[in-house]
Amino acid sequence: GGRILLVLGDQLATDHPALTALDAARDRVLMIETAGEATAVWSHQARIALFLSAMRHHRDALRAQGWTVDYLDLDSEPPDAPAGLDHRLAEALQRLRPSELWVMEPGEWRIEQLLETTAAQAGVPLRWWADPHFLCTRERFARWAQGRQQLRMEHFYREMRREHRVLLDAQGQPEGGTWNFDADNRQPYPKGGPGAIPPPAWFPPDGITQEVLALVSRRFANHPGSLAHFAWPVTPDQARAALRRFIEHRLVGFGPYQDAMWTDTPWGWHSLLSSSLNLHLLDPREVIAAAEAAYREGRAPLSGVEGFIRQILGWREFIRGVYWLDMPGLRQANHYDHHRALPAWYWTGATRMACLRDALTQTLAHGYAHHIQRLMVTGLFGTLAEIEPRQVSDWYRAVYVDAVEWVESPNTLGMALHANGGRFTSKPYVASGAYIDRQSNLCKMCEYRPKEKTGPRACPFTTLYWYFLDNHRLALRANPRTRPMTMHLDRWSEDERQALRESALERLHRLDEL
Ligand code: FAD
Ligand code: SF4
Repeated sequence: GGRILLVLGDQLATDHPALTALDAARDRVLMIETAGEATAVWSHQARIALFLSAMRHHRDALRAQGWTVDYLDLDSEPPDAPAGLDHRLAEALQRLRPSELWVMEPGEWRIEQLLETTAAQAGVPLRWWADPHFLCTRERFARWAQGRQQLRMEHFYREMRREHRVLLDAQGQPEGGTWNFDADNRQPYPKGGPGAIPPPAWFPPDGITQEVLALVSRRFANHPGSLAHFAWPVTPDQARAALRRFIEHRLVGFGPYQDAMWTDTPWGWHSLLSSSLNLHLLDPREVIAAAEAAYREGRAPLSGVEGFIRQILGWREFIRGVYWLDMPGLRQANHYDHHRALPAWYWTGATRMACLRDALTQTLAHGYAHHIQRLMVTGLFGTLAEIEPRQVSDWYRAVYVDAVEWVESPNTLGMALHANGGRFTSKPYVASGAYIDRQSNLCKMCEYRPKEKTGPRACPFTTLYWYFLDNHRLALRANPRTRPMTMHLDRWSEDERQALRESALERLHRLDEL
């Protein structure tokens, strides 16, 4: 037969480069839904629904363009014997006997291996296509990283700004005279709260999405999370409408409040574009160009626009480069040798800690939390409570609609947990409850006290933070970036240190009750 283009669930762009090289009369597209993928790691119901609905919309868009799409849906798979992607692909290759199998590089190392093996076993030549939904290819990143002692996002980002001519002035220098406006960003909300924030764009479920929601509640009822609020973009048109809404109404507040938290404020001024970007419903170039245009037209301040572009042209591209550089070892990373079990309340939100309750409840309701909630609440607790990194990482991959391994695992294992020993961060992101108190109103709603280090009312973050510093003080002292954190410790008496250790161990032994 002709050639087959396999389109994976996070490759849903109609401008897939392989399509221009295929012949609609002879070649076909193959798309495969598998319960195996939804359960290989545990997955939020909204995450499963988003992938399935966006895949089905993409199938219809390709058919409308005249492509023959072989679409293997979940209903054609026996629920009692869910096959993995490898089995279903092997079957399809046997049935269709293509001359070649074409695939765009996937977002997960394991899938790349699996496709190589399956194609080889079927005797079908496999041709890889680079993923054009990144500005920096895997090879380009590897070249940048070569010979560097330390991988620093900031250096990479400046090179990307120059290379792609983003936010540069007429002389090729950074717009506004500096590469980084973080000093102007990252404020807490005003004392009285965030006030009225223009809402993000939501998309009520259409016919296809409603069918998928019914299917997910039937087949995956025991999975975590809720479908009650499902309204994520599932098509490129919707993703573009979401981008427009963000640029027109919400980008102005992004910079100053990107690190702020407040009760009943799940979205803040964030873009909520990660799932659309990761599924390829949106091209990052379009997002960057729209933000830059808003600045050039005087509709958004440079500081916030630079901060937003840094997230996409800097962090997103950097994280992806690091993932492919460090896999498969990254998945095993456990720098601090932590082995405690993830507390059960990560799956329910039933904890007395107000900050965690807030972040977890919104995560289970929507499949979304913003960066500071992920890094400095759920992630920080994972580090301080000595949770096994693999368990934390599997949790993140399960609960967020934007979770794909290439972006989830470096963020969790590298940035939040420091499990890779600081491969691309200059220090562990650790803080006490005082940080959360400064960035939010959450501590005012909490039965714990952010400033107390020991005793029953002490904030668990604070107790465990000081315990962490004490445990790691030699390493922290050796690093000029963290040495100041340890100064306090030197002034503690042995009695104080002993009381802290007792309080901390008491907490660590009863994490499920906090
Ligand atoms: P905004 O705050 O509006 O930012 C704009 C865009 O920048 C995002 O849509 C995203 O594409 C990109 N971006 C921002 N920060 C990062 C980052 N650190 N790494 C990569 N891209 C970034 N992001 C995911 O897309 N999938 C994940 O599975 C994921 N897991 C994470 C796990 C942890 C522990 C942490 C700390 C962060 C994780 N992130 C992940 C990064 C970031 O938190 C999310 O991209 C962001 O919160 C998504 O919300 P938003 O679209 O409103 O982002
Ligand atoms: Fe979170 Fe501690 Fe503040 Fe409570 S006191 S909300 S546990 S930081």
